[in-house]
Amino acid sequence: MDQNPPYTPAFHSRLPEVGTTVFTVMSTLAANHKAINLGQGFPDFSCDRGLISKVNEAMLADHNQYPPMIGVAELRQGISQKISTLYGYDYDPDIDITITAGGTQAIFTAILSCVSLGDEIVIIEPAYDSYRPSIELAGGKTIAVSLTANYDDQGSVKSYSILWDELAKAINPKTRLVIINTPHNPTGMVWQKSDLDHLASLVRSTNALILSDEVYEHMVFDGFNHISIASQPELAARSFVVSSFGKTYHVTGWKVGYVAAPAAMMKEFRKVHQFNVFAVNTPMQYGLAEYLKNADHYLGLPSFYQAKRDYFSKGLEQTDFKLLPASATYFQCVNYTKLNVPQAQMNEADFCSWLTTEVGVTAIPVSAFYAKPVESGVIRFCFAKEEKTLSAALERLQTLQLRKDNGTR
Ligand code: GLN
Repeated sequence: MDQNPPYTPAFHSRLPEVGTTVFTVMSTLAANHKAINLGQGFPDFSCDRGLISKVNEAMLADHNQYPPMIGVAELRQGISQKISTLYGYDYDPDIDITITAGGTQAIFTAILSCVSLGDEIVIIEPAYDSYRPSIELAGGKTIAVSLTANYDDQGSVKSYSILWDELAKAINPKTRLVIINTPHNPTGMVWQKSDLDHLASLVRSTNALILSDEVYEHMVFDGFNHISIASQPELAARSFVVSSFGKTYHVTGWKVGYVAAPAAMMKEFRKVHQFNVFAVNTPMQYGLAEYLKNADHYLGLPSFYQAKRDYFSKGLEQTDFKLLPASATYFQCVNYTKLNVPQAQMNEADFCSWLTTEVGVTAIPVSAFYAKPVESGVIRFCFAKEEKTLSAALERLQTLQLRKDNGTR
Protein backbone atom coordinates (compact mmCIF):
# COMPACT_ATOMS: atom_id res chain seq x y z
CA MET A 1 0.00 0.00 0.00
CA ASP A 2 1.30 3.44 -0.95
CA GLN A 3 2.06 5.65 1.96
CA ASN A 4 1.33 9.38 1.65
CA PRO A 5 4.19 11.51 2.89
CA PRO A 6 3.39 13.33 6.12
CA TYR A 7 1.73 16.63 5.39
CA THR A 8 0.06 19.47 7.26
CA PRO A 9 -3.42 20.07 5.86
CA ALA A 10 -4.11 23.55 4.53
CA PHE A 11 -6.42 25.64 6.67
CA HIS A 12 -7.84 29.11 6.59
CA SER A 13 -6.00 31.62 8.69
CA ARG A 14 -8.18 33.21 11.34
CA LEU A 15 -6.00 36.31 11.01
CA PRO A 16 -4.98 36.47 7.36
CA GLU A 17 -3.84 40.09 7.53
CA VAL A 18 -1.79 39.70 10.69
CA GLY A 19 1.95 39.09 10.88
CA THR A 20 4.17 39.09 13.97
CA THR A 21 3.53 42.00 16.34
CA VAL A 22 5.79 44.98 15.66
CA PHE A 23 7.13 44.86 19.24
CA THR A 24 8.56 41.38 18.71
CA VAL A 25 9.78 42.17 15.20
CA MET A 26 11.70 45.23 16.39
CA SER A 27 13.08 43.56 19.54
CA THR A 28 14.37 40.69 17.40
CA LEU A 29 15.96 43.09 14.92
CA ALA A 30 17.52 45.03 17.80
CA ALA A 31 18.98 41.84 19.28
CA ASN A 32 20.30 40.62 15.92
CA HIS A 33 22.06 43.92 15.30
CA LYS A 34 23.06 44.62 18.91
CA ALA A 35 21.18 47.89 18.73
CA ILE A 36 20.07 49.82 21.82
CA ASN A 37 16.46 48.74 22.10
CA LEU A 38 14.21 51.76 22.71
CA GLY A 39 11.44 50.02 20.75
CA GLN A 40 9.25 47.60 22.72
CA GLY A 41 8.13 49.20 25.97
CA PHE A 42 9.94 47.62 28.92
CA PRO A 43 12.40 48.88 31.54
CA ASP A 44 16.04 47.80 31.33
CA PHE A 45 16.61 48.38 35.05
CA SER A 46 15.95 46.04 37.95
CA CYS A 47 12.72 45.90 39.85
CA ASP A 48 12.84 46.49 43.61
CA ARG A 49 14.68 43.64 45.36
CA GLY A 50 12.05 44.01 48.09
CA LEU A 51 9.39 42.86 45.64
CA ILE A 52 11.50 39.86 44.65
CA SER A 53 11.95 38.98 48.34
CA LYS A 54 8.20 39.01 48.83
CA VAL A 55 7.75 36.61 45.92
CA ASN A 56 10.54 34.40 47.31
CA GLU A 57 8.86 34.39 50.71
CA ALA A 58 5.59 33.33 49.08
CA MET A 59 7.33 30.45 47.31
CA LEU A 60 9.07 29.34 50.51
CA ALA A 61 5.72 29.54 52.31
CA ASP A 62 4.49 26.96 49.80
CA HIS A 63 2.22 29.19 47.80
CA ASN A 64 3.03 27.17 44.72
CA GLN A 65 -0.19 25.42 43.72
CA TYR A 66 -3.13 26.81 41.76
CA PRO A 67 -4.46 30.03 43.18
CA PRO A 68 -8.20 30.71 43.04
CA MET A 69 -9.28 31.04 39.41
CA ILE A 70 -10.16 34.71 39.94
CA GLY A 71 -6.85 35.52 41.67
CA VAL A 72 -5.41 35.55 45.20
CA ALA A 73 -7.86 37.22 47.62
CA GLU A 74 -5.24 39.47 49.26
CA LEU A 75 -4.27 40.90 45.88
CA ARG A 76 -7.86 41.53 44.79
CA GLN A 77 -8.52 43.24 48.13
CA GLY A 78 -5.46 45.45 47.71
CA ILE A 79 -6.54 46.45 44.21
CA SER A 80 -10.06 47.22 45.35
CA GLN A 81 -8.71 49.45 48.13
CA LYS A 82 -6.31 51.20 45.84
CA ILE A 83 -8.98 51.99 43.24
CA SER A 84 -11.35 53.18 45.93
CA THR A 85 -8.72 55.51 47.41
CA LEU A 86 -7.40 56.87 44.13
CA TYR A 87 -10.50 56.96 41.96
CA GLY A 88 -13.45 56.70 44.33
CA TYR A 89 -15.22 53.65 42.89
CA ASP A 90 -15.89 50.64 45.11
CA TYR A 91 -15.30 47.31 43.41
CA ASP A 92 -16.17 44.19 45.38
CA PRO A 93 -12.89 42.25 45.41
CA ASP A 94 -14.70 38.90 45.27
CA ILE A 95 -17.13 39.77 42.52
CA ASP A 96 -15.74 42.61 40.43
CA ILE A 97 -11.96 42.02 40.16
CA THR A 98 -10.00 39.29 38.36
CA ILE A 99 -6.23 38.86 38.13
CA THR A 100 -5.00 38.29 34.56
CA ALA A 101 -1.82 37.23 32.81
CA GLY A 102 -0.99 40.84 31.92
CA GLY A 103 -2.85 43.60 30.14
CA THR A 104 -2.99 41.97 26.71
CA GLN A 105 -4.78 38.85 28.03
CA ALA A 106 -7.12 41.06 30.02
CA ILE A 107 -8.05 42.95 26.86
CA PHE A 108 -8.45 39.79 24.78
CA THR A 109 -10.61 38.07 27.39
CA ALA A 110 -12.78 41.15 27.90
CA ILE A 111 -13.38 41.36 24.15
CA LEU A 112 -14.16 37.63 23.81
CA SER A 113 -16.56 37.83 26.73
CA CYS A 114 -18.83 40.45 25.20
CA VAL A 115 -18.36 40.59 21.43
CA SER A 116 -20.51 38.43 19.14
CA LEU A 117 -20.48 37.96 15.38
CA GLY A 118 -21.22 41.22 13.59
CA ASP A 119 -20.99 43.47 16.65
CA GLU A 120 -19.28 46.78 16.09
CA ILE A 121 -16.36 47.79 18.27
CA VAL A 122 -15.08 51.34 18.19
CA ILE A 123 -11.37 51.98 18.66
CA ILE A 124 -9.41 55.20 18.51
CA GLU A 125 -6.33 55.17 16.27
CA PRO A 126 -3.41 55.20 16.74
CA ALA A 127 -4.26 52.11 18.79
CA TYR A 128 -2.30 49.34 20.49
CA ASP A 129 -1.84 46.55 17.98
CA SER A 130 -3.66 43.80 19.89
CA TYR A 131 -7.10 45.44 19.79
CA ARG A 132 -7.98 44.74 16.16
CA PRO A 133 -6.94 41.06 15.98
CA SER A 134 -8.73 40.36 19.27
CA ILE A 135 -11.91 41.90 17.88
CA GLU A 136 -11.53 39.95 14.65
CA LEU A 137 -11.11 36.64 16.50
CA ALA A 138 -14.32 37.38 18.40
CA GLY A 139 -16.13 37.96 15.09
CA GLY A 140 -16.56 41.68 15.68
CA LYS A 141 -16.15 44.51 13.23
CA THR A 142 -13.68 47.26 14.07
CA ILE A 143 -14.74 50.86 13.52
CA ALA A 144 -11.74 53.16 13.88
CA VAL A 145 -11.92 56.86 14.59
CA SER A 146 -8.80 59.00 14.88
CA LEU A 147 -7.08 61.14 17.40
CA THR A 148 -6.28 64.55 16.05
CA ALA A 149 -3.18 66.63 16.74
CA ASN A 150 -3.48 70.29 17.74
CA TYR A 151 -0.69 72.62 16.60
CA ASP A 152 0.86 75.75 18.11
CA ASP A 153 1.82 78.91 16.18
CA GLN A 154 5.20 77.41 15.21
CA GLY A 155 3.48 74.44 13.62
CA SER A 156 4.53 71.99 16.36
CA VAL A 157 2.11 69.49 17.83
CA LYS A 158 1.02 70.83 21.21
CA SER A 159 -1.65 68.31 22.21
CA TYR A 160 -4.05 65.67 20.96
CA SER A 161 -7.79 65.44 21.13
CA ILE A 162 -10.62 63.10 20.28
CA LEU A 163 -12.60 63.91 17.15
CA TRP A 164 -15.91 63.94 18.98
CA ASP A 165 -18.06 64.29 15.86
CA GLU A 166 -16.42 61.22 14.36
CA LEU A 167 -16.81 59.30 17.60
CA ALA A 168 -20.47 60.31 17.86
CA LYS A 169 -21.05 59.06 14.30
CA ALA A 170 -19.25 55.79 14.99
CA ILE A 171 -21.42 54.92 18.00
CA ASN A 172 -24.77 53.39 16.98
CA PRO A 173 -27.15 50.66 18.17
CA LYS A 174 -24.80 47.96 16.81
CA THR A 175 -21.90 49.23 18.96
CA ARG A 176 -21.04 46.58 21.52
CA LEU A 177 -17.85 48.08 22.89
CA VAL A 178 -15.82 51.28 22.78
CA ILE A 179 -12.12 50.80 23.59
CA ILE A 180 -10.28 53.75 25.05
CA ASN A 181 -6.67 53.95 26.25
CA THR A 182 -5.59 56.55 28.77
CA PRO A 183 -2.77 57.45 29.25
CA HIS A 184 -2.44 56.74 25.56
CA ASN A 185 0.23 54.60 23.92
CA PRO A 186 1.94 55.97 21.80
CA THR A 187 0.98 59.69 22.05
CA GLY A 188 0.85 60.09 25.83
CA MET A 189 -2.54 61.79 25.57
CA VAL A 190 -4.39 61.76 28.89
CA TRP A 191 -8.19 61.82 28.98
CA GLN A 192 -9.59 64.66 31.08
CA LYS A 193 -12.77 64.61 33.13
CA SER A 194 -14.53 66.58 30.39
CA ASP A 195 -13.55 63.86 27.87
CA LEU A 196 -15.05 61.14 30.04
CA ASP A 197 -18.22 63.21 30.51
CA HIS A 198 -18.40 63.67 26.76
CA LEU A 199 -18.05 59.93 26.21
CA ALA A 200 -20.76 59.31 28.82
CA SER A 201 -23.14 61.56 26.89
CA LEU A 202 -22.46 59.56 23.69
CA VAL A 203 -23.11 56.12 25.17
CA ARG A 204 -25.86 57.08 27.62
CA SER A 205 -28.76 56.04 25.38
CA THR A 206 -26.98 52.96 23.95
CA ASN A 207 -26.00 49.50 25.18
CA ALA A 208 -22.34 50.08 24.36
CA LEU A 209 -19.85 48.84 26.93
CA ILE A 210 -16.43 50.45 27.46
CA LEU A 211 -13.01 48.86 27.77
CA SER A 212 -10.58 51.30 29.33
CA ASP A 213 -6.94 50.31 28.93
CA GLU A 214 -5.16 52.15 31.76
CA VAL A 215 -1.90 50.23 32.02
CA TYR A 216 0.12 53.48 32.17
CA GLU A 217 -2.03 54.94 34.95
CA HIS A 218 0.96 55.80 37.16
CA MET A 219 2.98 57.60 34.51
CA VAL A 220 1.43 61.02 34.06
CA PHE A 221 3.75 64.02 34.20
CA ASP A 222 3.97 67.78 34.73
CA GLY A 223 1.65 67.79 37.73
CA PHE A 224 -1.32 66.30 35.86
CA ASN A 225 -3.29 63.32 37.07
CA HIS A 226 -4.60 60.15 35.54
CA ILE A 227 -8.39 60.30 35.42
CA SER A 228 -9.55 56.71 35.56
CA ILE A 229 -12.85 55.68 34.06
CA ALA A 230 -13.46 54.36 37.59
CA SER A 231 -13.71 58.01 38.68
CA GLN A 232 -16.77 58.54 36.44
CA PRO A 233 -19.47 56.37 38.05
CA GLU A 234 -21.83 56.47 35.10
CA LEU A 235 -19.11 55.08 32.79
CA ALA A 236 -17.66 52.74 35.42
CA ALA A 237 -21.04 51.01 35.53
CA ARG A 238 -20.50 49.83 31.93
CA SER A 239 -16.71 49.50 31.82
CA PHE A 240 -13.92 46.98 32.01
CA VAL A 241 -10.88 48.73 33.51
CA VAL A 242 -7.55 47.10 32.68
CA SER A 243 -4.23 47.69 34.43
CA SER A 244 -0.84 46.01 34.67
CA PHE A 245 1.63 45.32 37.47
CA GLY A 246 4.31 44.76 34.86
CA LYS A 247 4.21 48.42 33.89
CA THR A 248 3.82 49.79 37.40
CA TYR A 249 6.47 47.71 39.17
CA HIS A 250 9.02 47.25 36.35
CA VAL A 251 8.25 43.54 35.94
CA THR A 252 6.80 43.24 32.43
CA GLY A 253 8.08 39.65 32.23
CA TRP A 254 5.91 38.52 35.13
CA LYS A 255 2.79 39.09 33.05
CA VAL A 256 0.40 39.97 35.86
CA GLY A 257 -2.42 42.46 35.44
CA TYR A 258 -6.07 42.78 36.35
CA VAL A 259 -9.53 43.74 35.24
CA ALA A 260 -12.18 45.50 37.31
CA ALA A 261 -15.77 45.64 36.11
CA PRO A 262 -19.30 45.62 37.50
CA ALA A 263 -20.68 42.21 38.52
CA ALA A 264 -22.72 41.47 35.40
CA MET A 265 -19.72 42.12 33.15
CA MET A 266 -17.19 40.36 35.37
CA LYS A 267 -19.41 37.26 35.51
CA GLU A 268 -19.06 36.88 31.74
CA PHE A 269 -15.38 37.83 31.80
CA ARG A 270 -14.64 35.02 34.25
CA LYS A 271 -16.49 32.45 32.12
CA VAL A 272 -13.94 33.10 29.37
CA HIS A 273 -10.95 33.65 31.66
CA GLN A 274 -11.33 30.22 33.33
CA PHE A 275 -10.90 28.43 29.99
CA ASN A 276 -8.40 30.88 28.60
CA VAL A 277 -5.65 30.88 31.26
CA PHE A 278 -7.62 29.49 34.23
CA ALA A 279 -5.41 31.30 36.74
CA VAL A 280 -2.25 33.37 37.02
CA ASN A 281 0.89 32.22 38.81
CA THR A 282 0.50 32.10 42.56
CA PRO A 283 3.71 33.37 44.26
CA MET A 284 3.83 36.51 42.12
CA GLN A 285 0.30 37.34 43.24
CA TYR A 286 1.18 36.93 46.93
CA GLY A 287 4.33 38.99 46.47
CA LEU A 288 2.47 41.75 44.65
CA ALA A 289 -0.29 41.75 47.30
CA GLU A 290 2.29 42.49 50.00
CA TYR A 291 4.12 45.06 47.90
CA LEU A 292 0.91 46.87 46.97
CA LYS A 293 0.38 47.77 50.64
CA ASN A 294 2.96 50.54 50.33
CA ALA A 295 1.44 53.26 48.12
CA ASP A 296 4.83 54.99 47.75
CA HIS A 297 5.79 52.27 45.31
CA TYR A 298 3.40 53.65 42.71
CA LEU A 299 2.93 57.23 43.87
CA GLY A 300 6.64 57.88 43.23
CA LEU A 301 6.47 56.79 39.60
CA PRO A 302 5.52 60.09 37.93
CA SER A 303 8.62 61.91 39.19
CA PHE A 304 10.83 58.88 38.53
CA TYR A 305 9.75 58.66 34.89
CA GLN A 306 9.45 62.40 34.35
CA ALA A 307 13.17 62.71 35.16
CA LYS A 308 13.92 60.10 32.49
CA ARG A 309 11.69 61.83 29.97
CA ASP A 310 13.39 65.16 30.65
CA TYR A 311 16.86 63.68 30.37
CA PHE A 312 16.02 61.96 27.09
CA SER A 313 14.15 64.87 25.54
CA LYS A 314 16.95 67.31 26.41
CA GLY A 315 19.35 65.08 24.53
CA LEU A 316 17.00 64.81 21.57
CA GLU A 317 16.80 68.57 21.40
CA GLN A 318 20.44 68.45 20.21
CA THR A 319 19.24 66.61 17.09
CA ASP A 320 16.92 67.44 14.21
CA PHE A 321 14.27 65.07 15.52
CA LYS A 322 11.18 67.13 16.32
CA LEU A 323 9.75 66.18 19.68
CA LEU A 324 6.05 65.54 20.06
CA PRO A 325 4.33 66.02 23.41
CA ALA A 326 5.16 63.28 25.93
CA SER A 327 2.96 64.08 28.88
CA ALA A 328 2.41 60.49 30.03
CA THR A 329 3.46 56.82 29.54
CA TYR A 330 7.13 55.98 29.04
CA PHE A 331 7.21 56.85 25.37
CA GLN A 332 8.57 59.84 23.49
CA CYS A 333 7.39 60.23 19.90
CA VAL A 334 9.47 62.22 17.43
CA ASN A 335 9.15 63.34 13.84
CA TYR A 336 12.25 62.44 11.79
CA THR A 337 11.39 64.10 8.48
CA LYS A 338 13.60 67.15 9.11
CA LEU A 339 16.77 65.08 9.58
CA ASN A 340 19.32 65.95 6.97
CA VAL A 341 19.86 62.37 5.80
CA PRO A 342 18.27 60.77 2.74
CA GLN A 343 16.60 58.17 4.99
CA ALA A 344 14.39 60.95 6.38
CA GLN A 345 12.25 60.34 3.30
CA MET A 346 11.66 56.68 4.15
CA ASN A 347 8.39 55.37 5.48
CA GLU A 348 8.28 54.83 9.25
CA ALA A 349 8.86 51.07 9.22
CA ASP A 350 11.85 51.33 6.87
CA PHE A 351 13.24 54.25 8.82
CA CYS A 352 13.07 52.22 12.06
CA SER A 353 14.84 49.29 10.40
CA TRP A 354 17.53 51.60 9.09
CA LEU A 355 17.91 53.32 12.46
CA THR A 356 18.36 49.90 14.07
CA THR A 357 20.80 48.40 11.60
CA GLU A 358 22.83 51.48 10.67
CA VAL A 359 22.60 53.82 13.67
CA GLY A 360 22.19 51.18 16.37
CA VAL A 361 19.05 52.50 18.05
CA THR A 362 15.65 50.81 17.80
CA ALA A 363 12.30 52.61 17.75
CA ILE A 364 8.73 51.64 16.85
CA PRO A 365 7.04 53.06 13.74
CA VAL A 366 3.82 54.76 14.80
CA SER A 367 2.25 53.53 11.55
CA ALA A 368 2.06 50.11 13.27
CA PHE A 369 -0.70 51.56 15.46
CA TYR A 370 -2.98 51.91 12.44
CA ALA A 371 -4.72 49.25 10.33
CA LYS A 372 -3.88 51.11 7.14
CA PRO A 373 -0.50 52.64 7.93
CA VAL A 374 -0.75 56.41 8.21
CA GLU A 375 2.65 57.86 7.36
CA SER A 376 3.38 60.98 9.39
CA GLY A 377 7.12 60.50 9.76
CA VAL A 378 6.72 59.71 13.46
CA ILE A 379 8.47 57.03 15.51
CA ARG A 380 8.26 56.08 19.19
CA PHE A 381 11.16 55.74 21.61
CA CYS A 382 10.80 54.09 25.04
CA PHE A 383 12.65 56.00 27.77
CA ALA A 384 12.09 53.45 30.56
CA LYS A 385 15.84 52.87 30.59
CA GLU A 386 18.84 53.50 32.77
CA GLU A 387 20.47 56.86 32.20
CA LYS A 388 23.53 55.16 30.73
CA THR A 389 21.35 53.42 28.12
CA LEU A 390 19.61 56.67 27.21
CA SER A 391 22.93 58.46 27.08
CA ALA A 392 24.45 55.82 24.75
CA ALA A 393 21.36 55.99 22.51
CA LEU A 394 21.51 59.78 22.42
CA GLU A 395 25.16 59.68 21.46
CA ARG A 396 24.28 57.52 18.47
CA LEU A 397 21.26 59.63 17.53
CA GLN A 398 23.38 62.77 17.75
CA THR A 399 25.71 61.32 15.09
CA LEU A 400 22.87 61.94 12.65
CA GLN A 401 23.54 65.60 13.31
CA LEU A 402 27.25 65.15 12.64
CA ARG A 403 26.51 63.38 9.41
CA LYS A 404 24.66 66.52 8.43
CA ASP A 405 27.39 68.90 9.66
CA ASN A 406 30.09 66.93 7.84
CA GLY A 407 27.93 66.73 4.80
CA THR A 408 28.74 63.01 4.72
CA ARG A 409 26.41 59.99 4.29
N1 GLN B 1 2.85 47.64 25.43
C1 GLN B 1 4.20 47.48 25.00
C2 GLN B 1 4.58 48.54 23.99
O1 GLN B 1 3.75 49.28 23.51
C3 GLN B 1 4.46 46.16 24.35
C4 GLN B 1 3.85 44.97 24.95
C5 GLN B 1 4.12 43.75 24.13
O2 GLN B 1 5.12 43.70 23.42
N2 GLN B 1 3.24 42.84 24.19
O3 GLN B 1 5.72 48.60 23.65
